[in-house]
Amino acid sequence: MAPVSKHFRKRDAILDCLRHSRAHPSAEMIYARLKPTIPNLSMGTVYRNLAVFQQQGLIRCVATVRGAERYDGRTEDHVHFLCTRCGNVSDLDDVPVPPQLCRAASRCGNRVESASLIFSGVCQSCVRSGESLSK
Ligand code: ZN
Ligand code: MN
Repeated sequence: MAPVSKHFRKRDAILDCLRHSRAHPSAEMIYARLKPTIPNLSMGTVYRNLAVFQQQGLIRCVATVRGAERYDGRTEDHVHFLCTRCGNVSDLDDVPVPPQLCRAASRCGNRVESASLIFSGVCQSCVRSGESLSK
């Protein structure tokens, strides 16, 4: 059996990291996660692979938080919540993308292929820590 090339090992590790994370990581977060197990990993490799994955439709860019793009290994339409305090990006699994919005968007002859809906505000744990501070 041919040895798995280093190139593919890095590629797969980056894709795996995105698919198994709920954190919607940035390139830096992925790099920090993988660097201990792949010591010769570079930021350039992470950025290059993210660009290719995005082009191939394997991942999506969800939002830009404090200047850093955040990525998602879940590519079907779903709703996100962005915390403006801690920068956490989470899935709102119980909130569906309203079909009437997609219908309205396609009314002018546009063919809607995807939708992204992001709520922003203060996340549950930041709300809680704010409450405990004011007590
Ligand atoms: Zn928060
Ligand atoms: Mn998501």
